[in-house]
This record gives sequence, C-alpha cells and structure tokens, in this order.
Amino acid sequence: VVNRNQEVIASAITNLDLHDLARLTCTYDLPACYVVTPLRDQQDLAHQLIAHWCNGVGKRLHPHRGQALERLRIVDDLPRVLQGIQAEWGAPPVVWASSAQPQPAALCHGEARRQLQGAASGASSPRLLLLGTAWGLAPKVLAGVDAVVAAIPGCSGYNHLSVRCAAAVLVDRLLDPGRAG
Ligand code: SAM
Repeated sequence: VVNRNQEVIASAITNLDLHDLARLTCTYDLPACYVVTPLRDQQDLAHQLIAHWCNGVGKRLHPHRGQALERLRIVDDLPRVLQGIQAEWGAPPVVWASSAQPQPAALCHGEARRQLQGAASGASSPRLLLLGTAWGLAPKVLAGVDAVVAAIPGCSGYNHLSVRCAAAVLVDRLLDPGRAG
C-alpha cells in the first residue's frame, strides 16, 4: 500500500478490521480472508488475537467470534495469497482490486456480480477481491490485477471508506443475487 506521500509502505493492522472482516467473511460464507503484512510484530499480534478467540478463554466466552476469526489467514505477501488459493482450489484466482479512485476500464458491480454467478454455476477460477489500507493499494499492485472494480461512489463527493466498510459494501453488491444493476 502507499502512504500519503505515495511511498510504498506496510501499514499496521487494525484490530477492528480483523474482527469485522472475519465476520463479513463468515456471514457471506467466503472461504477465507487473507491479511497481508510482512511485519512480524503485526503478524504476531494477529495470531495472538485469533488464538485468543479460536482456542483461548475467548472461545468459551464467545464461541461465535472464533467461528468467524478462524477464516482469517495471515501471510507475508500477495504471492503467498495466490499460492494459498491455488493450493486450496486447484487454480490461481482471478484478481479484482478495489480503489476509491476512478479507474480506467473499471469493472462495474453488476458485471462483476454476473461473472460471479456464472462462476458459481460452472467450473471456473476462484476470485480474489483485493483491498488496500492506508492511502490504498500501490500502483504496481493495481497494474498487475485482472480488473479493478468500480469505486463505490457514495452520495456526497466524499468516498474514502475504511477497508472494512468498503469490503462490506462491495461483498454485498457483488454477491447479492436479488440486486439489479
Ligand atoms: N485513498 C485510498 C484509495 O484511493 O483507495 C483509500 C484507502 S481506504 C482507507 C482502504 C481501502 O478500502 C482502499 O484501498 C480500497 O480497497 C477500499 N476502498 C475505500 N473506499 C472505497 C470506495 N469508495 N470504493 C471502492 N473501494 C474503496
């Protein structure tokens, strides 16, 4: 991801993101949510949190949290995400990125949803929806994906959502079979 000066950085993990992305993943029955960070201390923090709710005292107090958090996978980098998906699904994923900025030739949400519905009904590659943190995904990452899904426009001219909010809106838009357009 990049920082406010457009320098490539690794951002810190936000505890809230882990909880909310895990709940989203579980609610929409997505197989997994990969959290990418090369920073060892951030990985340790995430593993501690997951262990607390999946195995530790947290499991006894709130069993449902563990049920969601066990879908999180903590990895060093994007190639490891692709390897993990390939190992689990037998094919590399089609990668869709997201950004708050308008992108040339963005994949509109309706078309993305139709592609997913087609994929669900036949043998097809898995899909990876890639979101950034900080000031967004690095240009090199955006340039390497199969498509960038259209930005969520909002209603006010301001559309810079937190990653957990953007994930929830996009997943609902892309997976809701009753949605038109
Ligand atoms: N300024 C950044 C950008 O232009 O993408 C916003 C970064 S935001 C804190 C974290 C991530 O949430 C973004 O990298 C993007 O994946 C997603 N995101 C935030 N707002 C979005 C929007 N309106 N439409 C689509 N994705 C959004």
